[in-house]
Amino acid sequence: MYQRIVVKLGTSVLTGGTPQLDHPHMVELVRQCAALYRQGKDIIICTSGAIAVGRHRLGFPDLPNTVTTKQMFAAVGQSRLMQMWERYFEIYGIHVGQMLLTRADVNNRKRYLNARDTLQTLLENRIVPVINENDAVATEEIKVGDNDNLSALVSTLSEADLLLLLTDQPGLFTADPRTNPDAQLIPEVNKIDETVKALAGGSVSGLGVGGMATKLQAADVARRAGADVVIAAGRAPNVIERIVAGESVGTRFPALENPLENRKRWIFAGRKARGCVVIDAGAARALFENGRSLLPAGITAVTGTFERGDTICIEGANGQELARGISRYTSSDLQKIIGLRSDQIEERLGYGYGTVVVHRNDLILL
Ligand code: GLU
Repeated sequence: MYQRIVVKLGTSVLTGGTPQLDHPHMVELVRQCAALYRQGKDIIICTSGAIAVGRHRLGFPDLPNTVTTKQMFAAVGQSRLMQMWERYFEIYGIHVGQMLLTRADVNNRKRYLNARDTLQTLLENRIVPVINENDAVATEEIKVGDNDNLSALVSTLSEADLLLLLTDQPGLFTADPRTNPDAQLIPEVNKIDETVKALAGGSVSGLGVGGMATKLQAADVARRAGADVVIAAGRAPNVIERIVAGESVGTRFPALENPLENRKRWIFAGRKARGCVVIDAGAARALFENGRSLLPAGITAVTGTFERGDTICIEGANGQELARGISRYTSSDLQKIIGLRSDQIEERLGYGYGTVVVHRNDLILL
């Protein structure tokens, strides 16, 4: 079933609607995550609560409700929040790693790749990434703004197959359940259209900034990137384990289409190759017959000027274009590592972005 799961926990789930963290409930959520982790699944936590926790930690000071006050709360609360995640995962012998992102980290291709590489490396080393927005420094222009949308970006970055949006509501209803007793839970949504959006209204829950509307936006992004999305109540018993086991809990938005196909279209869509590399016959065989990534050892020439994250063409010795993909190294780096073994990259450049030049997931064979 699911292998890589992003668990987004809203402030309302972490505080239980009170002004402070509900520690026993956090431990319970971690227990469920740890059980899945032990089955070999990759878990990513997208946590809210920094601002709420900071406010509580400082004793609810009477300060003007400005952006900088909230940033101050976030600075205090984030470290406290992180201590708690660290402590609770440690009960199960699991390491966590903090990543604080902003929109700027995912919009810019080079930074996107950097963030993605870090996230993948944490997961490869069985460390649970704990992610929040970098609220202490994020200004309006570079902010995602709510952790629903942030968790959708994280799902895309990590190529997750399930995004759990855990909140204080059991899911999406046909009407507002707080005011309408006839409201029915919708178990599955296949199309997020205007009618569905109208059901979400502008609802905002408690201390957090998101509501059903931002959850639908997030669901739309994540399912296009190939993840199933489930909105469910974070306080329902065993909610994480039950959803991962395939039980129908909350509202499910099935993934839209084959994510690899999507990525490939993205590599092609209106992207001009900024440069080319020429590869030898051995590398061509590795790509075509063995489904491998492109390594520096197989490259014989580099043309054009490109950055990390640019699309490049991959040519055979006779100049025929064989493939297209996203380069993890700049053209000037590549000039220096042409023909080298991957374990020589760092020695030569003084740094490295991994062993491959174009990863097979970022590659289309022509
Ligand atoms: N990043 C915010 C925080 O940690 C939460 C945003 C949200 O609740 O969506 O306080």
